[in-house]
Amino acid sequence: MFSVCISRVRNAQLKARLEGVTQAVVDASAEFDDAATHTRLHQIAPQDLVGGVVTRAEMEAVYTQRMAKKGAPGRDIYDALFTSSPHGKCPLCGHRTVSTLDHYLPKAHYPALAVAPLNLVPACSDCNKSKLASVPAHANEEPLHPYFDDIDGDLWLVAEVVYVRPAALRFSVDAPTHWSALLKSRVEWHFRTLGLGRLYSTEAADELLNIRHQLHALHQSGGAALVQIELQERAESCRQARRNGWRTATYQAFAYSDLFCDGGFQE
Ligand SMILES: [Zn+2]
Repeated sequence: MFSVCISRVRNAQLKARLEGVTQAVVDASAEFDDAATHTRLHQIAPQDLVGGVVTRAEMEAVYTQRMAKKGAPGRDIYDALFTSSPHGKCPLCGHRTVSTLDHYLPKAHYPALAVAPLNLVPACSDCNKSKLASVPAHANEEPLHPYFDDIDGDLWLVAEVVYVRPAALRFSVDAPTHWSALLKSRVEWHFRTLGLGRLYSTEAADELLNIRHQLHALHQSGGAALVQIELQERAESCRQARRNGWRTATYQAFAYSDLFCDGGFQE
């Protein structure tokens, strides 16, 4: 990846220095791979120089000019990473559209990882902004990394109906008992720093607006029982698509709530 990016550098002196740090860049990527596998990314030391000779600004330019820019030698790999998330959804929030590549460890502090594919995660701009150039200080501050942390085999996102008018949902992380304390705190950190609870509550409120008329009609004809069946079926259908999607949690929470089904959905 790095060699492809620097293949068209014209300045001979710069090219020689960049080529000279290839091994340092490869080593940094291998270190990242090992650390991410063992939740030790917070132990990677920030750097000002790569291999002692290439500056942070020069490495940032390799990313922006030689990888991210249209027509740049590394652009094909940039595009492949950009489109790697299913249906173009940001893997960090699972909701908004991918609009950028996020440096998991910021290039401003880890220049050797500026073009490392393992460090480049497709993300929406809001998630990208929420992370900014933050550096994890402890293992439990390592946000989820979509290439390394696959937790969607477990149900962990839940919601409950909060009785205000109109009914609103509160989302939270419900860690399965077999998760380690570390994984639990990392998921909670991820959820909190990206503001997912607020995002999902807002979306759920809008979803309720869209189905209220239908729920009202069902309630008129068959009471709370019919409303509950409809919500349960919607929850099941959403679960088939995304176990931990906010819609799945939304419909499940609505269906579980007797008060909601018996008219709580109304304004
Ligand atoms: Zn996002």
